[in-house]
Amino acid sequence: MPEGDSLRRAAERLQVLVGQRVQVEAPHPRAQATGVAPRIDGRVLESVRAVGKNLLLGFDGGVVVRSHLRMSGRWRVEPRGTTRTGKPWLVLRGDALEGVLWNGPVLTLDARAVERLGPDVLDDDLEVPAVVARLRSAGPRPLGEALQDQRLVAGIGNMWMAEALWTIATSPWVHVSDLPDETLAEAVGAARRLMQAALAGGRARRNVYRHAGRPCARCGELVRSRGQGDEDRTAYWCPGCQAGGGPPGS
Ligand SMILES: [Zn+2]
Repeated sequence: MPEGDSLRRAAERLQVLVGQRVQVEAPHPRAQATGVAPRIDGRVLESVRAVGKNLLLGFDGGVVVRSHLRMSGRWRVEPRGTTRTGKPWLVLRGDALEGVLWNGPVLTLDARAVERLGPDVLDDDLEVPAVVARLRSAGPRPLGEALQDQRLVAGIGNMWMAEALWTIATSPWVHVSDLPDETLAEAVGAARRLMQAALAGGRARRNVYRHAGRPCARCGELVRSRGQGDEDRTAYWCPGCQAGGGPPGS
C-alpha cells in the first residue's frame, strides 16, 4: 500500500515534467468520468507535491488535481509515445516524457480533502509536540488506529504503524489516553525515521508487518495480526515484547 514515503518518490519522479505544458488524456472510463482531463489539458504543470498520502498537481490558473493512490495506484514516468497495453487513468504528455497514472483510484479537482489533513509526518518542519496534542485529542482510541487517522497525522499507513510500534516496544492496542506524551512522541518519531530511511533508499528489514505466526526477532514470541479500526486495517504486533496488551476480548 502506498504510504507517505512512496508518494514522495512519485512526486520526485514527476518533477521532470514541472514547467512543461502538458497534453492530457484519460483513457480509463472511470477517469474520464471524473472530468479532470479536459480541465488540465494544455495547461502548464507548475508543481507536484506529496501531502500525506495525496499527490497534489498544481497547474496554471490555480487548478489543483488531487491523486490518492489507495492500495493500487501507481505513477510512472516513461518516454513520450510509449506503447502500452491497458488503459491508464491519466497521461500527462510533456516534451520528451510522460507521466502515467495507473489504477487511479481517486482523482479529483479540489484539494479540500487535503485541508483536513494533519501535519505530514515527513515534513521537514514537523513539530512533534503538535502531533502529540492531535493524537491526544483522539481520546481513548487504540494507538495503532490513531496513528493511521490522516486527520491527526498524515502519511502513516499500516506497515509503518506496525514497524514503528514494534521499534518502540508498544502495542498498537494500547489506548492513546493511557500513554504519556513521551511514548506518543516516540511512536511518531519512530515512524518518521523508518519512513525517512525508506525514502533515502534503504531496505529495512520488516519485523512484524506480514510476519504473523513467525517468531519475533527480539523475544521469540509468535507475531500476531488482527483487523483494527473502522476500516479494518490489519495490525501486526508481538504480544511478547510490545507493552500494552492485545485486542479487546483477547
Ligand atoms: Zn517480541
